[in-house]
Amino acid sequence: MKKHNFSAGPSILPPEVLLKASQAVVDLDNSGLSLIEISHRSKAFVDIMENARSLVLELLGLEGKGYKALFLQGGASTQFLMVALNLLEKRAGYLNSGAWAAKAIKEAKIYDDVYEVGSSKDANYNYIPKGYEIPDDYDYFHCTSNNTIYGTQMKSFPKTNIPLVCDMSSDIFSRTLDFTQFGLIYAGAQKNMGPSGTTLVVVREDILGKVSRKIPSMMDYKIHIDKGSMFNTPPVFPIYTTMLTLEWLKGLGGIQAIEKENEKKARLMYSEVDLNPLFKGFASKEDRSNMNATFTLENENLKDTFETMLKEAGISGVNGHRSVGGYRASMYNAMPIDSVKALVEVMSELESKA
Ligand code: PLP
Repeated sequence: MKKHNFSAGPSILPPEVLLKASQAVVDLDNSGLSLIEISHRSKAFVDIMENARSLVLELLGLEGKGYKALFLQGGASTQFLMVALNLLEKRAGYLNSGAWAAKAIKEAKIYDDVYEVGSSKDANYNYIPKGYEIPDDYDYFHCTSNNTIYGTQMKSFPKTNIPLVCDMSSDIFSRTLDFTQFGLIYAGAQKNMGPSGTTLVVVREDILGKVSRKIPSMMDYKIHIDKGSMFNTPPVFPIYTTMLTLEWLKGLGGIQAIEKENEKKARLMYSEVDLNPLFKGFASKEDRSNMNATFTLENENLKDTFETMLKEAGISGVNGHRSVGGYRASMYNAMPIDSVKALVEVMSELESKA
């Protein structure tokens, strides 16, 4: 039986992408050579890299608007410090909306002054802070669009004259936004794009080159841009797989099309959470994420029954993060609605048994 994988990441990918990616490891496009054996400087791989980079800009609606897409290494966690190294001269504002945001703040503080403009730590991050102000003389403002652990998602972004930097690791390519409002976006590949091992950075070039510090080459966005995202050996397999996923997304009709699917899945999931008296949502309703739904089972005595039923239905990866507890259903782009239906059925069956 094919399992319904609700894991928060590394995530599921479309079956056709998995198949093509695995074939390419043996023989890339009938070339007789493996994707992971050919030179990254070969035409075949340079074409893959360029295709992936241009698909990113095309899907985000950022072509010809001064942005560059890079595929780097070190995970989104390396971006926490790279952003500060490249953009932080005096002071930056950060929104503390979760553990990942807090980690970004910790890293940036190594380099200079960081001000937390808002925080929801007081309520274990079950909501998105609002009503804060961002001073115009800050170097940039950093936020996290989707808080994977708590299941909260920013529905809008502050209007500001300073560069808006956003960690979109867990909702990139899942919903339509005006992406030109961001100066820099970063996202680990491993939720909506491909296997872990590469991190997408999309940066508007004009925000770079404004800090006085010396930046080590591997940490310098400008160097990566000048080298076509090939300053050093790139992670060829995650980049190729990401390219396949982006082609799949384009074939479906792009972000607009997947957004509709994601909304349907989230509606189905949250209506069960709200209507079924056995469950309670964790995140505040207006901030609920369409990617990660967090909820608790109100009657602890039913825990074992529920978990046995989940197992029997082939549902895996729904345990909540240890800092929140309960359950978390991650519904990334490649998750079919049938998997959400299977989970909702188990939840309602539990109600009929209780
Ligand atoms: N930011 C967010 C929102 C995440 O969900 C994660 C990981 O789940 C990270 C950052 C860290 O990413 P990485 O493991 O690629 O460093």
